[in-house]
Amino acid sequence: MGTALAEARAAGEAGDVPVGAVVLSPAGEVIGVGRNLREVDGDPSGHAEIVAIRAAASSLGTWRLDGCTLVVTLEPCLMCAGAILQSRIPRLVLGAWDEKAGATGSQWDVVRDARIGSKVEVVAGVRADECAGVLTEFFEARR
Ligand SMILES: [Zn+2]
Repeated sequence: MGTALAEARAAGEAGDVPVGAVVLSPAGEVIGVGRNLREVDGDPSGHAEIVAIRAAASSLGTWRLDGCTLVVTLEPCLMCAGAILQSRIPRLVLGAWDEKAGATGSQWDVVRDARIGSKVEVVAGVRADECAGVLTEFFEARR
């Protein structure tokens, strides 16, 4: 989560909403990092999780991220929850909940939905205060 937080801060410094993500291999090595690049790249899909998942798939040479863990500072949105399922990531570690748009336990729980048979393990609240604090500081500074 420390690496994800550093990515989040870097995103904030570049003018993007500060969210950072890391993908860990089954052995626990970092195989993909990402930060929100929506403003920097002008890309609506440039969320931290998508960037990290793409990097991990590229480093493993396969779209299947079986056994990997996605670590992210903020609860994933619908798009990113979908990407977790599409990449077969079985484990999600998140920092702060996103009560407005979260799709892994708050508004929706796409990664644990019996209708589609998704059963991702979700570990929430890891360094939650720091993860939420980075966002709060970013939005307060913009006011
Ligand atoms: Zn997202």
